[in-house]
Amino acid sequence: MTKNLWTKKYRLFFSILIVLLLVVYYLILPKYAANIDAKMNDATGQPPYKVTEAAQNLHDSLIVADLHADFLLWNRDFLKEYDYGLVDLPRMQKGNLSLQAFTIVSKVPKGLNIHKNTADTDQITLLAFAQHWPFKSLFSLKERALFQAEKLHDFAGKAGDQFVIIKSKGDLADFVNLRNAGKKVSAGFLGIEGAQILEGDIANVKVMYDAGFRMMAATHFFDTELGGSAHGVSLGGLTDFGREVFKEMQERGMLIDIAHASPAMIDDILGFASTPIVSSHTGVRGTCDNQRNLSDDHIKGIAKSGGVVGIGFWETAVCETSAAAIVRAIKYVTGLVGVDHVALGSDFDGAIQTPFDSGGMALITQELLKEGFSESDIRKIMGENTIRVLAQVLPD
Ligand SMILES: [Zn+2]
Repeated sequence: MTKNLWTKKYRLFFSILIVLLLVVYYLILPKYAANIDAKMNDATGQPPYKVTEAAQNLHDSLIVADLHADFLLWNRDFLKEYDYGLVDLPRMQKGNLSLQAFTIVSKVPKGLNIHKNTADTDQITLLAFAQHWPFKSLFSLKERALFQAEKLHDFAGKAGDQFVIIKSKGDLADFVNLRNAGKKVSAGFLGIEGAQILEGDIANVKVMYDAGFRMMAATHFFDTELGGSAHGVSLGGLTDFGREVFKEMQERGMLIDIAHASPAMIDDILGFASTPIVSSHTGVRGTCDNQRNLSDDHIKGIAKSGGVVGIGFWETAVCETSAAAIVRAIKYVTGLVGVDHVALGSDFDGAIQTPFDSGGMALITQELLKEGFSESDIRKIMGENTIRVLAQVLPD
């Protein structure tokens, strides 16, 4: 065989290979990611949701706030309504979900469980690659956070006056005034699920603040430089670095979130903090006893700090997939510490199954009415408590 023929064969081989790789990258991987999204973020109930007229009327008059959703992890257009996933702007508007925390996920170990995980593996790298995230975000958790913050800002730009990002007391007051004037504007604020995105560098607290983040949890599923996860290995308390981070967050006006923290870490944070503490998405052991959920003592500690417990909508949080189970947990918290310290923390789009998507929030209002909560209590639980805490913590 001549040299020329070999060269031709190689050329053909590499051309086919490149075409195949392009097909995989541009056609197959995004589909694969969308399939995972649809499979993992699922509601058991679908619209139209059955709500009584009285419940719907009350619900439509509320400002509804939710402390946790991982929407930014997925490649969906916020302005478009999807028939999969759990939250987007059209469904927020339908469900009168007025204020949503957009929490970013940066690293999730393989074989995820609520008992014991290490940081040795990660499922987000492949997902990020499949969704065409910027190259630098494949190798840096900090860049993953910054990219997701940028996504929300891009969406807000496109949404015009339908959606605002809240970063200060002034932004919050403007939003509440618009809502009270009958304008159906929606709002969001940025949070972080696991301080591994700081990459161990205190200077990154300011980087995250400047990127718009106003809430952060010390840990997600594994231990970080700040201390132990409830699902990690050490189950340790707050480290000196963690103290330094939280001190700076308090000074800047960022909410400290204890979701996913180990019990020792929660004790340390509650002992240390001088601003209201939140658990952005959780259940309570009083109605659903497992390692993911809060003990009575920790609920009391959060209440004492002036903060709120955001009740999750999925099975590990409330031991059932139903509005009734969510309200059971809410009622347990109000029974323990009063009506001012409980809020919503759906975990929409957090790879969980919920009883309804963000268009079905009125089902909770209906269930609260059924359980005998007064109108003013319902206003607090559905949103005012979260707004009170934000108004207290956010910077001027
Ligand atoms: Zn979570």
